[in-house]
Amino acid sequence: MLTYDTYHMPTTLEEALTIWAASPEGSRLVSGATDILPWAREGRAGDVHLPELVDVTRISELNGYAFENGRVRLGANTVYQDFLTDRVLMRNLPCMPYCAIWFADDQIREQASLTGNLVNASPVADGTPAVVALNGEIELARLENGEIARRRIAVVDFIEGPGRTQIARDEIATAVILDTASGYGGSFQKVGQRRSLVISVACCAALVKADHTGRIFEDVRLALGGVGPRPIRMYDAERALRGETISHALIDKVARSAAELVGSRSRQDYRREVVVNFVRAALQDALADQSDVEIKFQDTREQAHV
Ligand SMILES: Cc1cc2nc3c(=O)[nH]c(=O)nc-3n(C[C@H](O)[C@H](O)[C@H](O)COP(=O)(O)OP(=O)(O)OC[C@H]3O[C@@H](n4cnc5c(N)ncnc54)[C@H](O)[C@@H]3O)c2cc1C
Repeated sequence: MLTYDTYHMPTTLEEALTIWAASPEGSRLVSGATDILPWAREGRAGDVHLPELVDVTRISELNGYAFENGRVRLGANTVYQDFLTDRVLMRNLPCMPYCAIWFADDQIREQASLTGNLVNASPVADGTPAVVALNGEIELARLENGEIARRRIAVVDFIEGPGRTQIARDEIATAVILDTASGYGGSFQKVGQRRSLVISVACCAALVKADHTGRIFEDVRLALGGVGPRPIRMYDAERALRGETISHALIDKVARSAAELVGSRSRQDYRREVVVNFVRAALQDALADQSDVEIKFQDTREQAHV
């Protein structure tokens, strides 16, 4: 069970930062509490008593989103359900709806913030590969001489390992900034121990843009989760595809190279096999998801396997 001495519900960022900076060691920030509550139970952390909890969900500056220079700045209170209901976000972040649909269930998605998912830094968090594929940055704020100071860090660097990030003790995450990828096809692959309400064993996010002929990979973004302590952006695979003719043979070749990226200590052979199939499926699904162009493969699946 989780107990605490004081539960704060600040309504402005400045108030939250002031409370947070003064809170005793062991206090926690809380958003949807979908990681924090299950953590404080038998078999995990057990009974936990915290001095203070600082709830960020009433801070209006952390709500909503805005576009800036080809990017979208999602307030830290953005929850997974938003990627399934907000048509503007769905169009501009094409891998996020596929990530969200596999994420927990309706009830949890209404509570679970993308920011909490990133700060929790589970190696199998679904949000990390999707955010990394979208060149995601996290914005952190703290008080400096009474003024709000902000910094941004690429999410691929922010997550240092299981449960470890670059957030400082006095900082609050205020936003996640992502590339907009309207016109790309998106995809998200995930496997776990069961079919529904499942935490990933491994996952893969893809964004693909074919050129106007439907024959050439104009841009490709690929990222993996669950195959090591940190999310992996597959830059080599992206380079091998960008500017090349779209073919099943090339997709197969790139997918096979992904097996080398598996660094997890457990279930290595299983993860290698899964990752190869995920990268192949992610690329094919993302191509099929690009609605404005008809994709013309150079070969058939059968020819690629001769
Ligand atoms: C039934 C169930 C199913 C789930 N399914 C999935 C799934 O399919 N995929 C998946 O990846 N996860 C899943 N989760 C885990 C969880 O829902 C996610 O990690 C979620 O996104 C966490 O967000 P939250 O807002 O609930 O975070 P919280 O639990 O409130 O916080 C998580 C961490 O982030 C910190 N934090 C939160 N907000 C801020 C902020 N603004 N600034 C700084 N630190 C902050 C907290 O201090 C804490 O350390 C599931 C959980 C449950 C209970």
